[in-house]
Amino acid sequence: MLSYRHSFHAGNHADVVKHIVQSLILDALKQKDKPFVYHDTHSGVGRYDLQDERSEKTGEFKQGIARIWSRDDIPTEIATYIDAIKALNNSDELRYYPGSPKVARAQIRDQDRMVLTELHPSDFPLLLQEFRGDRQVKMYQEDAFARLKASLPPKERRGVVLIDPPYELKHEYQDVVKAIKQSYQRWATGTYAIWYPVVYRETIDNMLQGLKDLNIRNILQIELGVEPDTEERGMTASGMIVINPPWKLASQMEQILPWLQHAIAPNHGHYKIEWIVPE
Ligand code: SAM
Repeated sequence: MLSYRHSFHAGNHADVVKHIVQSLILDALKQKDKPFVYHDTHSGVGRYDLQDERSEKTGEFKQGIARIWSRDDIPTEIATYIDAIKALNNSDELRYYPGSPKVARAQIRDQDRMVLTELHPSDFPLLLQEFRGDRQVKMYQEDAFARLKASLPPKERRGVVLIDPPYELKHEYQDVVKAIKQSYQRWATGTYAIWYPVVYRETIDNMLQGLKDLNIRNILQIELGVEPDTEERGMTASGMIVINPPWKLASQMEQILPWLQHAIAPNHGHYKIEWIVPE
């Protein structure tokens, strides 16, 4: 049963961190002319209207992108991410927010390609409509990890896999670990960027331990919290676990995260950049 709809959450603080990290990884891949693949396992619809009733209902973007959009001290490191949002909005008004596939589409070049999977029967047609006729984008209404397995290794042998499940079910955290194990066996040199929410810290610690137990090296954790950890329900922080990150990513995030925390969660926020397993 698929009940999660990303339109309730688009542009929230978690999307901001995720899409900044994603765009920095793509920036790094573009340093070489050689083609690469962007593989998005849980794509969503690609574009979100922040004035639709779902966004209005939760107002989550007001604690996310809206807090940085009109600032005049945006760090140059996140220019590419901001440009992807500007491309969807004709004026300074923030109305549309790009999902991960649109952030990527704003960055790829003629020689690059994208693979998108989305299972939801209502969201997949919207995704299809967004990229219809785009020869660089292949879309599948298939299970995220089944399609990932079938796609690796990519013919380019360069690229990034974004893994962004809804984590509605407890087993999804360990499903990610299994998917990494399987993917890494097929393609050990790819970059894997895994998004995670902190609802219960223990769940994330277990997922990190599961990844460590795979004996994979070069794993970086990046996190932004808006509240301290709690035992109550609700997401208090979120982050990205990046396997084989670009070499500059950690130092770029050292510049970005203090600014982001100050802009988004000045009172109770925290951030972290940590090597879970060094190179
Ligand atoms: N990556 C998107 C972004 O950043 O804009 C947001 C994705 S949202 C967090 C998770 C998506 O995964 C939902 O749209 C949901 O329908 C989809 N989904 C859930 N289970 C899936 C599965 N097994 N295979 C593919 N997609 C799935």
